[in-house]
Amino acid sequence: MFFQDIVGRFESEQTPFYHYDLKLLSQTLEACKGAADSYGFHVHYAMKANFNRRVLELIRDAGFGADCVSGNEVNKAIEIGFAPQRVVFAGVGKSDKEISEALSHNIFCFNVESVQELEVINDLALKAGKKARVALRINPNVDAHTHHNITTGLDENKFGINQWELSACAELLTRAQNLWLEGIHFHIGSQITDMNVFKSLCIKVNEIKTWFEERGFNLNVLNVGGGLGVDYYQPDKNQVADFKAYFDIFNQFLERKPGQEVHFELGRALVAHCGSLISRVLYVKKGIKKNFLILDAGMTELMRPALYQAYHKIENISRPDKASSERIKYDVVGPICESTDCFGKEVELPDSERGDLIAIRTAGAYGEVMASRYNLRDEVRSVYSE
Ligand SMILES: *Cc1c(COP(=O)(O)O)cnc(C)c1O
Repeated sequence: MFFQDIVGRFESEQTPFYHYDLKLLSQTLEACKGAADSYGFHVHYAMKANFNRRVLELIRDAGFGADCVSGNEVNKAIEIGFAPQRVVFAGVGKSDKEISEALSHNIFCFNVESVQELEVINDLALKAGKKARVALRINPNVDAHTHHNITTGLDENKFGINQWELSACAELLTRAQNLWLEGIHFHIGSQITDMNVFKSLCIKVNEIKTWFEERGFNLNVLNVGGGLGVDYYQPDKNQVADFKAYFDIFNQFLERKPGQEVHFELGRALVAHCGSLISRVLYVKKGIKKNFLILDAGMTELMRPALYQAYHKIENISRPDKASSERIKYDVVGPICESTDCFGKEVELPDSERGDLIAIRTAGAYGEVMASRYNLRDEVRSVYSE
């Protein structure tokens, strides 16, 4: 079992906490970097997935850029030591203050999500006496075939510039003195496991890229975003995502001119598996119809199940599984005063008791970063293995 060697160390720790396996993170980063390098692809880490300092430092050292979605993320990336020329800034609602600060850092590129935003960035760049490098985030209307709450590339989504607005963008870009078009950008959703989705994206990118090139725009960068999924059901079997297969698709189907760079923005696939939320059973309620395990961690520490019915594998790490041992079905819930504060229904676990340590797996992405102080909860801690 994954935690066999370290569970003893957890006994003396105050729960709940996030456990980060930094060795697994390093292995994952190496696998991704190696696969990307073999095609000359560039990867920016989508910082919103996890901005724990230790995690960011390893990612910086492994040679990734940073993909940010707020001014504070831009500032943090620079503070941690990501080179400004490897920092990109996306987001559908960048404020004037955020734009001006990012301009002052001379970041690599703004991924722009509307015609009006182009005008605003042009004005602010003029005031700052700068030329802003921009990429247009285009909504390709490609279905990511993932949970609808994490789909971003359909016409009905708020993200990106729709294709019927491209003429207006092209017109604005030819006259805007303080903008420089670096390339085009796409991000169609998250937790995508069907590689055909990425193939469809490539075909769409080729089409849109041709549209720009026919109008005399030279695109240095094709940014295809992130979204590669991980195996939440079998975290031990598939600890590292299949980066090779993922990059292969783009190498095969994306048309590139000589010198044209391909950029990726991976979040989840880099950090999901290295993190687990460790908590303790506070109470066991055994009923006629239902049994409950009430944990000392809840939606305030890990919101994904409450927010989008996400599945996380749950293990009782105080009672390593034996094939022979009897299993009981529990609803595993947190202490927060909300009915959606539930990590899993009818979860089969060994007969569990107060004080047992429970691991909620694959929680390294969109876990700690979404923690809240609701119910005036303590700030969640982190523990590391290296
Ligand atoms: C969230 C986000 C990503 C990363 O998505 P993952 O599914 O975590 O890989 C990449 N690009 C943009 C613009 C995003 O908002």
